[in-house]
Formats: sequence, structure tokens, C-alpha cells
Amino acid sequence: MKETPPPPANATTEELLTQLGPLVHLDVLENLLNQARARSLWPLTFGLACCAIEMMAAGASRFDMDRFGSGVFRPSARQADVMILAGTISRKMGPVVKALWDQMPSPKWAIAMGGCTIDGGPFKYPGQYAIVEGADKIIPVDVYIPGCPPRPEALINGLLMLEQKIKAGKKFHV
Ligand code: SF4
Repeated sequence: MKETPPPPANATTEELLTQLGPLVHLDVLENLLNQARARSLWPLTFGLACCAIEMMAAGASRFDMDRFGSGVFRPSARQADVMILAGTISRKMGPVVKALWDQMPSPKWAIAMGGCTIDGGPFKYPGQYAIVEGADKIIPVDVYIPGCPPRPEALINGLLMLEQKIKAGKKFHV
């Protein structure tokens, strides 16, 4: 194993602490919290265009996102921890999306559902001025779900992928 070189004699307290890392490790607690976070993702009730219809279908009885703890759509950004960007993001809506994201408490995650939120989809062409060409131009995205529109099964698969990332200890956005 590679040994860490000793800190220089004139190192400041801050530099010493940075090199030593955390004095107390709470890995077991953090793992437990991540299991709970992964199995209780509460999406924001929020749709942008046609992909939102598929998102609604995913929440309905046939597909039932509740099986994975993700069916509790919240009416307020302050109660949600996952934003499913479902649909075309017009330039007019861009600042609204950002404002809602900022209102969500940490830890929080974002899913880009459909071609429009990944890179503009069918509305992307040279010289266009109406849409944002990708949700990640506004907020950090954790999972991308391709399709136009993706089926509800694809959204559920995306949620499961996000669960895996959270359980694996992915750093969350603040
Ligand atoms: S990806 Fe297709 S289905 Fe989804 S919002 Fe864009 S045009 Fe509509």
C-alpha cells in the first residue's frame, strides 16, 4: 500500500486536517442513510411536455412506481428530492426549472427523461432559438433516459439506476 508522505513542518491546521481526512468515520450510518434515501425518492410533480404523459403513466396502477418507493409525487419543491425533467425545456421555462431545483432541499437528484431533455431532441437544429439544448445546461443531471418518448418501463429503469448510484454512495448535489 502506498504511504502518505508526512505533512510539512510548517503546515497549517487546515492543511493537516485536509491530509488526515475525517477524524470520525460514519460509514455504517452513511450506508444506512443511503439505503433509505434510495428507497424513498420523492419526485416533484412537474412536467414540461409530452414525456410527462409517460411519467404520469409510470405513476399509475399499471406500472406503479410506488413498488420502488418513488410514487409519492410532491406538490412542493421543498418536499421533493428528485426532479424528473420530462419534456422540452423552452428558454422561457429554463429559469423556472432552475428556481425549482434551488428550492429542493439537499440531498437531491435529477433525471433527464427523453431526447428533449438530453440534448434538445427533435427540436434541435442549427439556428434554433426557442429551447434549451439539454437539462444539464441548467442543473446537474444524474441519470439520462433516451427515447421520444421513453416508455414508463424506461423511467422505472432510470429510477432503479439512480437507486443503485445512491446506494453506491454517489455524492449528492447541495
Ligand atoms: S422527447 Fe419526444 S416525447 Fe419527449 S418531450 Fe420531446 S418530443 Fe415530446
